[in-house]
Amino acid sequence: MRILIVEDDYLIGDGLQTGLSALGFACDWLRDGKQGLAGIGAAPYDAVVLDLGLPGMDGLAVLAAWRRAGHQEPVLLLTARDGVHDRIRGLDGGADDYLVKPFALGEVAARLRALIRRSSGQSATRLRHGQVEFDAAARTATLAGEPVALSARELALLELLLANKGRVLSREQIEEKLYDWAHEVESNAIEVHIHHLRKKLGSDFIKTRRGLGYTLGDEA
Ligand code: CA
Repeated sequence: MRILIVEDDYLIGDGLQTGLSALGFACDWLRDGKQGLAGIGAAPYDAVVLDLGLPGMDGLAVLAAWRRAGHQEPVLLLTARDGVHDRIRGLDGGADDYLVKPFALGEVAARLRALIRRSSGQSATRLRHGQVEFDAAARTATLAGEPVALSARELALLELLLANKGRVLSREQIEEKLYDWAHEVESNAIEVHIHHLRKKLGSDFIKTRRGLGYTLGDEA
């Protein structure tokens, strides 16, 4: 899952980027309202964390411009403790949720997961396909009830495939969801992750559609 963070406070932005990355999100961080305005179109973001007090352009104005332009990405606002009027204007202006500073990283992650679930029409916190089950909050996977050791990227790829059941994802689409700007993608990285997932979860778990990409195999 890929997240855009728009926050000018260095400590908060750095903490969010580092912390959310460790929790399995690919995160891009912009520090200015105008950059944020344009940046939302730079990658297929699953959700956005938006600070309200931003240099260049106010967060509420950025949000209004995104919504006017048809961007429907779920937006989590970061607001000051005394910012009740901002929160009301933000929610009425198209934000999906808010957190008051200071906040706990775990709560940001949980709210983002909830927003992403809601926007994709899911309610289950565990994703399942055949014998494989993935717990998005705990970042764990099981095969026939037994834990499977997966790397952070393998978990992210598994999550992406499970969230897109029935769809074929191209290598480029997978790269855009798994890697942020800070991490360069090696040319065969996705093939390698696919190979490892098949080794660990069964060779039929992921199907290759030649020339198109990858999709989950038939549910046994
Ligand atoms: Ca700020």
